[in-house]
Amino acid sequence: MSLSHGRPYLAIPGPSVVPDEVLRAMHMASPNIYRGALHDLTHSLLPDLKWVARTESEVAIYIGNGHTVWEAALLNTCAPGDRVLVPDTGQFCRGWAEMAAGLGLQVDLLPFGDEAPLDPAQVAETLRQDNTHAIKAVLAVHVDTATGVRNDIAALRRAIAETGHPALLMVDCIASLGCDRFEMDAWGVDVMVAACQKGLMTPAGVGFVYFNARADAARGQLPRVSHHQDWRPRVAPDGYWRLFNGTAPTHHLHGLRAALDMMRAEGIEEIWARHAKLAQAVWAALEAWSTQGPLRLNIANRHERSHAITSVVALPDAGLRIQNWTETNAGVTLGIGLGRTPEEGYFRIGHMGHVNAHMVLGVLGVIEAALLAEQISHGPGALSAAAQVISTA
Ligand SMILES: *Cc1c(COP(=O)(O)O)cnc(C)c1O
Repeated sequence: MSLSHGRPYLAIPGPSVVPDEVLRAMHMASPNIYRGALHDLTHSLLPDLKWVARTESEVAIYIGNGHTVWEAALLNTCAPGDRVLVPDTGQFCRGWAEMAAGLGLQVDLLPFGDEAPLDPAQVAETLRQDNTHAIKAVLAVHVDTATGVRNDIAALRRAIAETGHPALLMVDCIASLGCDRFEMDAWGVDVMVAACQKGLMTPAGVGFVYFNARADAARGQLPRVSHHQDWRPRVAPDGYWRLFNGTAPTHHLHGLRAALDMMRAEGIEEIWARHAKLAQAVWAALEAWSTQGPLRLNIANRHERSHAITSVVALPDAGLRIQNWTETNAGVTLGIGLGRTPEEGYFRIGHMGHVNAHMVLGVLGVIEAALLAEQISHGPGALSAAAQVISTA
């Protein structure tokens, strides 16, 4: 017997659950792209996109995914041959580094392993040794969606500032924007990239590059930037089409409008607090399961964990068995262990965006059922520990 019939739940760290409000907003005939309501709607998004990131800086919208904005951010700040420093805390750091290498940049990877955050002091030390200021930018990932680690971006900026090194601080918030506290201006971030399919609850297809005046000055130094990638016309368009350098992503803009309306109604502090609480419930269950058997949280220290995604080690093959069981029998799809073979036993739980208490408790209950069905040994009390956290909301 399968108990999977009912609403399926994709509990992976992006794409995240799309709210019915967003789906309804996208269910429409193609609007006029030349004038009228679509233009007003598009311009209304910009202040809210800045509000989500706590910034007054510019935001350019790109049709594409996270990889698109990784590339766009680099193309507007660095030229082939320039050096960038990448503190490596997981698969997504290495992904951005690869993108940079592919553009002809010289990449210095500073490895911190897959179970720990970056150490700002070591980044600072590397910058101090760079007497000639050859390093143009530090590329940091706020939350690495593979490991579940959350890096302390404010501390990283302070450490960079103490060195007096002029490198730009560029941050990937693709998995954290709208989930974990992020304060672009207060933390001194020069460039930030995000995409719409995680905390912003919209189907994949639109990405964002935020940049401040320092970053735009670096843009000004470049001999050329591809017209299509250039962020300048996208933030100061001499015609509506320039915002996207072509046809607008009409339906995504409508979906995003609905998503941002929901976020405005909830409040950004409240959104961050909800994600923190739900994450604590997930951790409480995992900490209980981990007292016996193969399950273990990938990031040991609570203060270093994402509030949007939890990475679990379940050696040798428990991760795969749990994922298969929950999908086949309970309608819940868990995240795979990224950058790992299935046999390595990792799995990930997404709890980002349009997620509430019953969804998280449902996922945890289903994992418990999988542990029982698959006879994977585990500590007791996980579900009541999670419910205890939720009860104190
Ligand atoms: C999802 C993600 C990406 C990649 O985004 P795509 O839309 O899959 O290209 C990059 N960085 C982080 C931190 C992510 O979570």
